[in-house]
Amino acid sequence: MTDSPRLHRVPFDGKFSMRDFSCDPPDGAPPKKELKEELDGLVDRLDKLQQRLFADERFAVLAVFQAMDAAGKDSTIRKVFSGVNPAGFRVQAFGRPSELELKHDFLQRVVPRLPERGKIGIFNRSHYEEVLVVRVHPEFLDAQHLPGVDRKRIWDERFESIRNFEQHLARNGTVVVKFWLNVSRKEQKKRFISRIEEADKNWKFRLGDLDDRGHWDDFQAAYESMLKATSRPFAPWYAIPADDKAYMRVAVARIMVATLEELEPRFPEVDAAQRRELQEGLKRLERE
Ligand code: AMP
Ligand code: MG
Repeated sequence: MTDSPRLHRVPFDGKFSMRDFSCDPPDGAPPKKELKEELDGLVDRLDKLQQRLFADERFAVLAVFQAMDAAGKDSTIRKVFSGVNPAGFRVQAFGRPSELELKHDFLQRVVPRLPERGKIGIFNRSHYEEVLVVRVHPEFLDAQHLPGVDRKRIWDERFESIRNFEQHLARNGTVVVKFWLNVSRKEQKKRFISRIEEADKNWKFRLGDLDDRGHWDDFQAAYESMLKATSRPFAPWYAIPADDKAYMRVAVARIMVATLEELEPRFPEVDAAQRRELQEGLKRLERE
């Protein structure tokens, strides 16, 4: 059971507590060396599945990554998708919205960056920042110039908008799968310290990251209500233990492979006319 890709899926009925989600790999998880080998195999399968996805032309896949700083979003994306044809996927990172973006509704900037059919789109942060960092820092909400904001209701309203948006995507062939990389406060501290102590990691450290660490409990509360309100069959969240990087990568890769396999993407059938063309091509080449 420990290798079932469904293992980390966040229940759709909101009946869970954050304590149900561990930052550590489950008991019985394979040792590091086996995890690395498994990852290699999964990366190959993902590449082959993406080829089929492209040939099949029915589905796009959107993988959303959200996490606290230093949970490993960038490296997980790099390791899991490294073997996929670069033409087959695109990573989109979402930072603070620009002045112009703030003049639109919060979903506007996401739409042009969605993957088209046949492609895998990866969101490194996403529209979910609007119910996470914006919720924890009310000053970001002030900058949005919204009319008549009811600060009690706005988060539920945003959840509703997001659910409707993702259901719309699902109905139109974009398969949405979402990963919350669940790092512990203790492990985050360790990773920040290594960013400070190891010269080649210095560039990753920003003092500002410690501010969000200071709001740890507020973020956890925001994550909890987000997971409850937006993990649905048409766009499930997965709570991935993130304190062990090797396990985290394999867990994400398993889910990506299972998600694509479920779509059963097919190469198009060769019809009689195409078969004749193939034969003709072969004949011509043999005659050369
Ligand atoms: P990084 O991913 O480390 O490059 O940082 C991007 C920063 O942009 C993070 O601190 C995010 O919380 C922030 N960010 C992303 N989306 C939003 C948003 N909609 N409103 C405010 N801040 C955001
Ligand atoms: Mg940051």
